[in-house]
Amino acid sequence: MKKFIPTYYAKNVYEVSLDFYRKHGIKTLLIDLDNTLASYRDREPSAETIKFVRNLETNGIRVLLASNNSGKRVKRYAETLGIPYIAGARKPLAYKMRKFLKNEGVDFNSLLMIGDQLLTDVFCANTLGVKIMLTDKLVNEDQWTTRINRLIDRPLRKRLQRKGKLKEWNQND
Ligand SMILES: [Mg+2]
Repeated sequence: MKKFIPTYYAKNVYEVSLDFYRKHGIKTLLIDLDNTLASYRDREPSAETIKFVRNLETNGIRVLLASNNSGKRVKRYAETLGIPYIAGARKPLAYKMRKFLKNEGVDFNSLLMIGDQLLTDVFCANTLGVKIMLTDKLVNEDQWTTRINRLIDRPLRKRLQRKGKLKEWNQND
């Protein structure tokens, strides 16, 4: 159960303020792609997403992308955004993620992972020992593999909520 408890919770990544990152000493964001940053159908970042990432960078926050999806789409998406990425990350396993973060020279203490799934994103971050912000799904639609995870995610999320384990990012002081 402990490994499924996120550090913070937000409805989506776009609502979190720069001030929050500043206050918590967050210098790097490692963001999940599908249903966190975009729909799994998006082949390229939207104008809104590009603006969002540029604004973070302008304010001194580094943005990295981590997706369990493999192949061309993740590559194209991340390269269009101009940010480092890992595809086929195999979350919740920590091995590839740790290696990627090490290669990128990321300091774990000032890192925040952000993702929409308890089973992959939250579990992985807690295994790595880094902060994790859980979000709701950005759009309603999931890829079929994710739909299976949701069968476990949904009741688990409700339980965490009931027990007061979902700490909203903006109600943290
Ligand atoms: Mg996702």
